[in-house]
Amino acid sequence: MKSISVFGSTGSIGRQTLSVCETHGDLFEVSALVFGSNVKLGCEQIRRFCPRVVGVFDEAAAKIVRSEFPGIEVVSGSGVWDIASLPGADVVVNGVSGFSGTFPLLNALKAGKPVALANKESVVCAGSLVREALACGGTILPVDSEQSAIFQCLTAGRRADVKNLILTASGGAFRDMPKELLPSVTPEMAMKHPNWSMGRKITIDSATLFNKGLEVMEAAFLFETEGERIKVLVHPQSVVHSMVEFNDNSVIAQMGVPDMRMAIQYALTYPERAACPAAPLELSKLSGLTFEEPDTEKYPALPMAYEALRRGGSAPVAYNSGNEVAVERFVSGDIRFDEIPELVAGVMNSMDDMPVMSMDELLFCDAEARRLAREYGTKRSI
Ligand code: NDP
Ligand code: MG
Repeated sequence: MKSISVFGSTGSIGRQTLSVCETHGDLFEVSALVFGSNVKLGCEQIRRFCPRVVGVFDEAAAKIVRSEFPGIEVVSGSGVWDIASLPGADVVVNGVSGFSGTFPLLNALKAGKPVALANKESVVCAGSLVREALACGGTILPVDSEQSAIFQCLTAGRRADVKNLILTASGGAFRDMPKELLPSVTPEMAMKHPNWSMGRKITIDSATLFNKGLEVMEAAFLFETEGERIKVLVHPQSVVHSMVEFNDNSVIAQMGVPDMRMAIQYALTYPERAACPAAPLELSKLSGLTFEEPDTEKYPALPMAYEALRRGGSAPVAYNSGNEVAVERFVSGDIRFDEIPELVAGVMNSMDDMPVMSMDELLFCDAEARRLAREYGTKRSI
């Protein structure tokens, strides 16, 4: 029986993690639930999974949860991140969205725990701090479907024989839309993903391809591979979750239906496998699998990610945190869809490159990127 702490329990990854835990009640128990402010769902989850400790980031929401469950310890504010290092949990699932996911990741690794990592923003922004924390004995088990696929494909050969990592991308909601029409995209349109059902931010990132850009950097960190050897292919069917090409030109692919419970469950049962609630892949019912090069003019987020990776230090923070603010500004109607990459490029160009070797430096770069992103006047408003 493994005890699991679920960070971001009320989100898309968190809910699917709890579904896996419920399916395998003989393998997993939930020792902690951590969420932001969704009191209604959070309280339902507490009733169902009876965790020993609960973290609610929002103070007002935490007050309501405390009054509902006087017998359970409820931590609030930034204290929730300390739950990641509590001795009660065997595995920490990090399904928090955005830069904040950095805190539970670092705390869990410093406590020597395995982390089932969905949050990609953390390894993109805090690579050297995460590398340092990994020296304490913790491990990262990738949950992001592309990274889970690569992790699985890598078991087919020796690391020294890997030629390229090939990340697949669905191409997002506007794959077939001409570039000229992108300015007319509304937040409602961008929030519909063709294949996966996910949280709001990552769905918009999938439409701009910022998600794939973040994944290029995530793969570079997780598999210690330079950008030139990480390729991206658009694969609209989302059946091949990613691939590894070895130096004899053999390509190993991991396939499955687009259901995150497979990747979440593999991270939790690793190195073993168990029956999964995700549907089996019926290959004979597929009408075809296609792959094409991404259109980097239509989606500048991709070449910008390779640039951020080359520059290192503060550049990935500028890319990530600039994008987080750009997405918020797009959702609130402040900027157009096509202005998201323009704004992030502006932040990346305005910020001087600096190393990110300490938490203070990381927080400084994050705050600076957000300030520039909030202040950035797009062409339209000038
Ligand atoms: P959601 O927006 O659906 O969920 C985010 C979760 O994080 C919610 O439970 C939210 O709580 C919680 N949260 C946000 N901020 C805080 C905070 N400050 N303190 C505590 N909890 C907080 O996101 P997703 O589940 O879609 O994505 C989560 C991460 O996983 C992202 O990094 C994403 O890139 C990655 N990922 C997601 C995939 C997916 O299929 N969804 C696939 C691959 C990767 P509340 O809602 O209560 O405020
Ligand atoms: Mg992914």
